[in-house]
Amino acid sequence: MCCSHELTEKNLQPLTVNPAFLERIKGMRFFDPHIHMTSRTTDDYQAMADAGIAAIIEPSFWLGQPRTGIDTFRDYFNSLIGWERFRASQFGIKHYTTIGLNSKEANNEKLAEAVMEILPLFVYKEGVVGIGEIGFDDQTPAEEKYYRAQLELAKEAGLPVQIHTPHRDKKKGTQRSMDIAIEHGLDPRMVIVDHNNEETVQEVLDRGFWAAFTIYPFTKMGNERMVEVVKQYGSERIMINSAADWGISDPLAVPKTAALMHESGIDLNDIHLVTFRNAISAFAQSGQINESDFEAVKEIDQSLKFNGSTVLRGGQQPRRDNLSNIIK
Ligand SMILES: [Zn+2]
Repeated sequence: MCCSHELTEKNLQPLTVNPAFLERIKGMRFFDPHIHMTSRTTDDYQAMADAGIAAIIEPSFWLGQPRTGIDTFRDYFNSLIGWERFRASQFGIKHYTTIGLNSKEANNEKLAEAVMEILPLFVYKEGVVGIGEIGFDDQTPAEEKYYRAQLELAKEAGLPVQIHTPHRDKKKGTQRSMDIAIEHGLDPRMVIVDHNNEETVQEVLDRGFWAAFTIYPFTKMGNERMVEVVKQYGSERIMINSAADWGISDPLAVPKTAALMHESGIDLNDIHLVTFRNAISAFAQSGQINESDFEAVKEIDQSLKFNGSTVLRGGQQPRRDNLSNIIK
């Protein structure tokens, strides 16, 4: 059976009994400012809502396979302001997006030019809270060219910028990203530098930018390290996100890290700032975030449809088994 499943109270129940970390964060609300829900399943949305995630930002990114034509970019951007926002709303989560040409695909110049042409059609849409994620991957001249062009677009549109910093040669790539943003006259307060680590955080904060940290298993920050960062640098202009995507990642990284911070004796106000408030302060500069919407979206009506489609699929119940609050 497909597409005609009727919603019952049962469908909205959590899939598993509450694990210990959910007890630790009971009553807290979270904002995950970087998560690629396009690559995630609908039961992730349910688990995120159960863990207190009230709102998210989905940046535009690379889908794992290079796109070959402009129309797939167009459809992708449309899904970020359309279907994906609807899908989130069906689980009581407010969905925002940042729109941009990712650094990897900036290297296909012909396509990059075409993407630059359509970006202005999307960046002024409702729920678009920034230009992102943009910046450097391999730090090539083409990446720099389109990074600069998109900084100009951000200025023109009055939108914050969400910077993806490279995995390789991170420190240099991060410094270069900030230098170029300053060169283009951007106020550091309008720029969120993402994927920081212990090597980059001091300079990012000293220069007045927002410092975002991605809690991602194996490759970026584990959340035990994140606890130490907050102990050392405090909570001003620092925010955390999951960057969950098609890789082995964790859409509950923000609430799990909040639980670990709480367990480690970090002040509740600091936890609130790095897991909720700071991200809102940074991205609300777009004029697109109204916190009363977080409550409004909680009134879930799963009988609603988006262009005739619903999120319901015969009540399947996927497994969730990654429930420890430690992310290595
Ligand atoms: Zn990302």
